[in-house]
Amino acid sequence: MASDLHCDASKCVYNIQQRCSASRIQVKGMEAGQADVIFCATFAPRKISNMLGMIGNINLLGSLGELISKAPSLKPEVVCSITSCLKNNGGACVTEDLIIGGIASIHAGETSCQSFIAR
Ligand code: SF4
Ligand code: SF4
Repeated sequence: MASDLHCDASKCVYNIQQRCSASRIQVKGMEAGQADVIFCATFAPRKISNMLGMIGNINLLGSLGELISKAPSLKPEVVCSITSCLKNNGGACVTEDLIIGGIASIHAGETSCQSFIAR
């Protein structure tokens, strides 16, 4: 399911004003029941090489729509490996208001899923 995602990881190449411009993200981590060990594996720091690499996974129409209309049109598909989360349905995140934290994150492991709820 595509998620209305809020992301605080502003140093990620996909982040546009706390929204995610990726078409699809992958959330991973330990099944330990804590948000801070669950992270966005799609995070990539803002570097020229990553800007080129992101082209295959960018939601171009959504990014343009959001910049022009300010309407929330960035809703990435969220693939998640955390089966102990209540919001995981067969490897897909089914929450419509996913929050990824990590305002100072400079690599993927420093981000976190703030919406995790243990089954
Ligand atoms: S950290 Fe993940 S959710 Fe946040 S902008 Fe980057 S790819 Fe999107
Ligand atoms: S809310 Fe749950 S299912 Fe969704 S990304 Fe976070 S850990 Fe995965």
